[in-house]
Amino acid sequence: MTEDSNDRSKEGLSNADEPSRRYSNFSKTETTQETSQEDSFRPKIRWPDFAVQLFIHIGCLYGLYLCLVSAKFYTTLFAFLTIYASGFGITAGAHRLWSHRAYKAKWPLRLILVFLFTITGQRHVYIWALDHRVHHKYSETDADPHNAKRGFLFSHVGWLVLTPHPNVVEKRKAVDMSDLEADPIVMWQKKLYPLLFLIFVIFLPVYIPVYYWNETVWNSFWVNFNARFCITLNIAFFVNSVAHMWGQKPYDRYISPVENLAVSMAALGEGWHNYHHVFPWDYRAGELGNIYNPSTAFIDLFAKIGWAYDLKFASSSMISRRAQKSGDGSHVWGYGDADIEKEDLEELEKMKDFNKCH
Ligand SMILES: [Zn+2]
Ligand SMILES: [Zn+2]
Repeated sequence: MTEDSNDRSKEGLSNADEPSRRYSNFSKTETTQETSQEDSFRPKIRWPDFAVQLFIHIGCLYGLYLCLVSAKFYTTLFAFLTIYASGFGITAGAHRLWSHRAYKAKWPLRLILVFLFTITGQRHVYIWALDHRVHHKYSETDADPHNAKRGFLFSHVGWLVLTPHPNVVEKRKAVDMSDLEADPIVMWQKKLYPLLFLIFVIFLPVYIPVYYWNETVWNSFWVNFNARFCITLNIAFFVNSVAHMWGQKPYDRYISPVENLAVSMAALGEGWHNYHHVFPWDYRAGELGNIYNPSTAFIDLFAKIGWAYDLKFASSSMISRRAQKSGDGSHVWGYGDADIEKEDLEELEKMKDFNKCH
């Protein structure tokens, strides 16, 4: 644990406690002698991270341009297949398995997931899961690394290029990560991450099209490293931004996460975010596992051969209880749903009789 705390500070997680002015528009009356550190926090731009994001995003546009004008069809196809396949490393791996312990996985599956996750280039599993646990535990507060209350841009990408709020730094240190520290596959990936990044994020995706179908190194770099990497990143960012802003809240109307079909379609079923924040330990990350949720199908598939086991999910009565207690009323799936208002049902029955007469 001590060693790990050192690691976290080494990774630049402790550089947020600069004295500075407030970032939010709190009322002036709050500016008192007792103003706490978090009230007076004003983030600074981390210029190297800013430059990296700028490069990745501009390079992505160029890569997409090359897809249209000079890259071979198979190069583009390969990039999009890689985006899709490696995404399971985030959804079924870093997210549902390692961040939430929503199921257990035998080592061959953990190895596949860590390999897929590495291809996405989204830092190592340990730091991803750490930030994600903090996000759930302190959602939409100053301690949330990508607090959606600070706006779309901050929750989408800004949090990666700004110094973190002191509360984030503090809560990151407090999260129990002992389960991941006991997983040799996670710790092995963490230790070797820079080398693995070079091999699996840059070298292999760029080299395969060059070797197998004579793509140019130039095209392959911009399409299969840059655009691929950037698109995967942005799909994951949408879960933190869009899925915390626009959609329905059938399970808890008092929180910001929402159900968003578009995000679910892009992110392999991770857009059922109101449900997910209410039942984060449910391996399906959505109530209806069969409604656009390929990550659930992926886990189910491995459950069939016994590599995924101890799958946890909320029962329909748990879900119904929660929806009735705090939902926004959008939980009803259609005619025949037990939660339809009694008065509505009675009126519907009368209308049926009326329709028969006509
Ligand atoms: Zn969230
Ligand atoms: Zn989550």
